Amino acid sequence: MNLILMGLPGAGKGTQAEKIVDKYQIPHISTGDMFRLAIKEGTELGKQAKSYMDQGELVPDEVTIGIVRERLSKGDAQEGFLLDGFPRTIAQAKALEELLGDMDKSLDYVLHVDVPQEQLIERLTGRRVCPTCGATYHVKYNPPKQEGICDKDGSALIQRDDDKPATVKKRLEVNIEQTQPMLDFYQDKGYLAKIDGDQDIDQVFEDIDKKLRGLSE
Ligand SMILES: [Zn+2]
Repeated sequence: MNLILMGLPGAGKGTQAEKIVDKYQIPHISTGDMFRLAIKEGTELGKQAKSYMDQGELVPDEVTIGIVRERLSKGDAQEGFLLDGFPRTIAQAKALEELLGDMDKSLDYVLHVDVPQEQLIERLTGRRVCPTCGATYHVKYNPPKQEGICDKDGSALIQRDDDKPATVKKRLEVNIEQTQPMLDFYQDKGYLAKIDGDQDIDQVFEDIDKKLRGLSE
């Protein structure tokens, strides 16, 4: 079961990734984890990636693809994997396709957890944080007992700059611009499975699970 998971910030991708990994026992492979592992293991590519990151530079695709290859070659990824955060560009998507071909593997689905933009804005801008204990709330989905006040210590809750409407909208726009070409690419290839993410968390997983059950039968 070889999967890619896509979704905008606030779409609930992380929660669904946990559920998929838990049920199907495949590794959740995020870009950050892959880099950290390669650096920790001190592989040649890990060293190269680290030198770029230390200089605050983007890691070039050839290094990234090499690290993906190393990760997908590990024993735990032989029955499947869930890629998250990779590929980020069409060039990477094409390189991944070639890499999988070399390894005699192919993708099963690119799962796209789709949530309308207005809904994402509501989810993201509704977050509130306690500056004292770090507890997080949501004005609509997880409100404190008393509006604007932390349940645990009575501090006044704040909205982080990252969660303010202008910042949230900008972040979504940038993400949409990046991901749309890849959604189109995978749609053309027939791998895209659009999942309605604008429903209850368990129902979203049920829809994903319906697709995946078909693969393991
Ligand atoms: Zn608190």
